[in-house]
Amino acid sequence: KTFQELGVGKSILKALDEIGFEEPTPIQEKAIPAIKSGQDVLGIAQTGTGKTAAYLIPLFMKLVKAEGNDPRAIVLVPTRELSLQVGEDIEELTSYSNIRYAAVYGGVGWTKHAALVEPGIDILVATPGRLWDLYKAGVVSFKKVKTLVIDEADRMLDMGFIHQLHQLFEVIPPKRQNLLFSATFSGKVEKMSDEFLDFPVRVEV
Ligand code: AMP
Repeated sequence: KTFQELGVGKSILKALDEIGFEEPTPIQEKAIPAIKSGQDVLGIAQTGTGKTAAYLIPLFMKLVKAEGNDPRAIVLVPTRELSLQVGEDIEELTSYSNIRYAAVYGGVGWTKHAALVEPGIDILVATPGRLWDLYKAGVVSFKKVKTLVIDEADRMLDMGFIHQLHQLFEVIPPKRQNLLFSATFSGKVEKMSDEFLDFPVRVEV
């Protein structure tokens, strides 16, 4: 199938064409329709398979365009590097859309990140601890969040983020679509999936 056949809109198609993504990768071909259906999705795919665009493209389809000030989607990532990488991917893929985002991470003062969030954003990419800092400081509101993505869930668990994830899940409105991506499907990831996903569609490559 082509991106167009998967229902991807014009502005994203134009960006895909410019980046040089000619056709969907296998994980994209499976994940895009699953995510579009509105169900929770468990994606098992390694880095390098195109898993980032596999969740970002349907996310853009859902958000359509800039709206309000509070984020409608949150992408949780384990590291600063991945936060910046996902931010760059959003930047490229939304060259012809007006979707706004910020990518934040721990280890640096949060006032700079508050300034990124305050003008209004649609997608917030964050490491769990930094997201909690911003929430506690009253900089970010979760009341509009309709989609929560957990990227590299296995690494997240290895790095000991489970407590912070629990804390966040208690304050993010429960009526939302959850997408969990992991390179591996270990017992720990399975437990997390059982706990946080509601009858997920499983996609795998
Ligand atoms: P990821 O698995 O998200 O880390 O992506 C791995 C690499 O694949 C990245 O460098 C992307 O730019 C690239 N990529 C993602 N989707 C496609 C596609 N449909 N066609 C070609 N390259 C892609």
